[in-house]
Amino acid sequence: MTVSESAAEAELEVEAELLAGLESGVTTAGAPEERFDVEAPFRGTKIGDLPACGPDDVEVAFERARQGQEAWERRSVAERAEVFKRYHDLVIENCEELLDIVQLESGKARRHAYEEVLDVAMTARHYAYRAEDYLESEEREGALPGLTETEVHHHPVGVVGMITPWNYPLSLAVSDAIPALLAGNSVVIKPAEQTSYTALKAIELLREAGLPRDVFRVVTGHGKVIGEPLVAESDFVCFTGSTETGRIVASQAGEHLTKCSMELGGKNPGIVCDDADVDRAVEGLIRGCFTNAGQLCISIERLYVHEDVYGQFVEAFVDAIEGLHVGAGYDHDVDVGSLISEEQLEKVTDHVEEAKAQGATVLTGGTARPDLGPYFYEPTVLTDVDESMTLCANETFGPVVAVYEWSDEDDVIERANDSDYGLNASIWTEDHERGREMATQIETGTVNVNEGYAAAWASLDAPMGGMKNSGIGRRHGDEGIMKYTESQTVSVQKHLGMTNPPGVPHWLYAKLMNKTLKIQRHIPGMR
Ligand code: NAP
Repeated sequence: MTVSESAAEAELEVEAELLAGLESGVTTAGAPEERFDVEAPFRGTKIGDLPACGPDDVEVAFERARQGQEAWERRSVAERAEVFKRYHDLVIENCEELLDIVQLESGKARRHAYEEVLDVAMTARHYAYRAEDYLESEEREGALPGLTETEVHHHPVGVVGMITPWNYPLSLAVSDAIPALLAGNSVVIKPAEQTSYTALKAIELLREAGLPRDVFRVVTGHGKVIGEPLVAESDFVCFTGSTETGRIVASQAGEHLTKCSMELGGKNPGIVCDDADVDRAVEGLIRGCFTNAGQLCISIERLYVHEDVYGQFVEAFVDAIEGLHVGAGYDHDVDVGSLISEEQLEKVTDHVEEAKAQGATVLTGGTARPDLGPYFYEPTVLTDVDESMTLCANETFGPVVAVYEWSDEDDVIERANDSDYGLNASIWTEDHERGREMATQIETGTVNVNEGYAAAWASLDAPMGGMKNSGIGRRHGDEGIMKYTESQTVSVQKHLGMTNPPGVPHWLYAKLMNKTLKIQRHIPGMR
């Protein structure tokens, strides 16, 4: 046996240990009839296989989740919150193992996997300490001052069905589930096939933190097979993925009149202004464009640079990109990792090759890197991109950015808004007031000034989501938890009814009411 063979065997042993036992977290009705393979994108080889669940398995998962939800809802919000405070600590304590599994399944760089650990810990902390406030019953103004006492309660919807993608497998498996669970719901999740082990590990840690098993159930397998039964059983559907699949899932939810949130794709613009700090913009936009090899819904794929700094910016940007360390390491030194799969590599390659054929200029990158691993693609900057090219308006979801020049502020805002998507935008200017003012004119759910995406994403108190074809609803903040509740208004009518009092004829009641209405309109607090 050669040294490299034994090193490879040792690596496989470590991987087998990481994944051992996780399959027991999958809910099945019986012995699974079908299984699907999971591979390591760094080398394109199989690392395991999991049950391809069917509609029967989904039914069992929902039965269990409904049973579990009843007892879970009876716990106080404070009791539920304790689980997530412990989870916060467990995620940090198990950081290295989580990073290993995320990297193994997704092929991303460790520094980008770490963003997921941060996100999960911060989300657990935010909602664990804020859920009581968000969910507290509130007194509201009654119909008749002094006579009607009105309050609003926030009940859990029941069982939340979640369908998640592969690009942020740890974050997206639990960060949207945490508020749903804290609101007193149970959850059934179908994670992406490529990254189901990560979801299983994240949920195993939730159980370790004290979450009852039935409150969070997992079904693994093909979205096309179990997506529909999952939607049919859900009391709320939380979908994250492509706009194309989102339309299918939303229409199925519509059939059942089931509420849903849709976190979908983007073609996000970045704007570099004439007064930008160019060095800072270069650093921030490298992260903005190439984090997770561009497989990030909020990453920047269209970059508009003011003519006054265009030359300086583009030269520094390309230089910095050419110095990036692209590779397959399990340490924090790699800047850009692999794409997830052959399919993703093909999509990125097709977009770039078509653009090249139609006249786009490649300033750097533009090719796959099979020498690093089967799905690696170089960080790529293009110019001379026009509407004849698919990547001009469509999401590439890879390490590719098209750069354009601008001179007029109104015009660049119009160009940034000229998209069917509306997820995220990034503006670079030293004048924060100018940045704020431009931001309000951009039609996206989040705008980051002097940052690519992370400032708005990590502002967990504020809503995050998409306008236009980028989605329905929001995650984070109050909207991110209240969407998983049903509001109930309870009004107690005291002393008099809601009609003419006994002995007062209705014509007189109408006259008095008209006078009262006129006065009420002028009294603050009674409007
Ligand atoms: P996708 O193909 O839409 O898949 C997402 C999930 O939907 C997967 O679990 C998939 O299962 C499942 N699915 C596929 N077909 C289905 C169907 N007919 N019914 C129900 N479920 C179905 O998206 P992706 O390629 O995994 O992820 C990339 C996309 O997600 C990009 O467009 C990105 O912008 C978007 N995204 C958005 C956000 C956001 O917050 N806005 C965050 C991350 C990603 P299988 O694994 O079995 O295919």
